[in-house]
Amino acid sequence: MLANEVESSRWKKFLKSVLAGAVGPGRFLWRGPLSSQAICLTFDDGPDPTDTPRLLDVLGKYQVRASFFLIGARAAQHPNVVRRLVDAGHVIGNHSYWHNSPAKVSARALVEEVRQTRELLADLTGKATNLFRPPFGALTIAKLASLWRAGQTVVHWNRNPGDACSSAGMLDEWFRDRPPQTGDLVLLHDNHPHARIVLPSVIESVRGRGLEFATLAEWTGLPMPEACGKREIGGDLPRMRSTSGEEVRERGREPR
Ligand SMILES: [Zn+2]
Repeated sequence: MLANEVESSRWKKFLKSVLAGAVGPGRFLWRGPLSSQAICLTFDDGPDPTDTPRLLDVLGKYQVRASFFLIGARAAQHPNVVRRLVDAGHVIGNHSYWHNSPAKVSARALVEEVRQTRELLADLTGKATNLFRPPFGALTIAKLASLWRAGQTVVHWNRNPGDACSSAGMLDEWFRDRPPQTGDLVLLHDNHPHARIVLPSVIESVRGRGLEFATLAEWTGLPMPEACGKREIGGDLPRMRSTSGEEVRERGREPR
């Protein structure tokens, strides 16, 4: 990373830390408790009819629960994948309806997309979610205030390997160089195959260092998904710690 990128990254982390400290995890979350001895895997931009089910196979094999921020338009196209996510015990969140460029979307339009996606996900799964991650992580004060007025918990991240724009080999190297630490909230994407390919070694490394996997439901104090996940994952989950017709086209890397 270039020096100015490092400074930008530090500045963003500082702002996130201040914001989270001021409003609490029910309104803004960018990392989990350091005492959790867990990390949280989050996946954006799905559901994908091919890559998401393959990722679910891997998560199920290792009995890991994750959190998925779904794009409304894609959820409408692939409702069975959404239901499978929920049935497997994963947490779902809202990632807008169209995932348009933030510069083109007003605060009012964004809240309307959130409402539309929220209703769709509730219709598909019987579960309402107030977890929202803005496309590209982009926020303004006006959007943040509007989202809070709409009752949303805004979720960012503190670890971004940039998997959408890398290869599985590069992603694997990233995780080897920067092993996840307790409280890390990791941004990944389920509409690309890279995360799925490297997850087995990442999961084994995390557990080998005595850490487990938390969901956003645990870290925000929201109710956990019903135990129907056991049907697919199999058995008791191990060591879970409490705590417009416009095509969806933006798949780029989200900022660090
Ligand atoms: Zn996204």
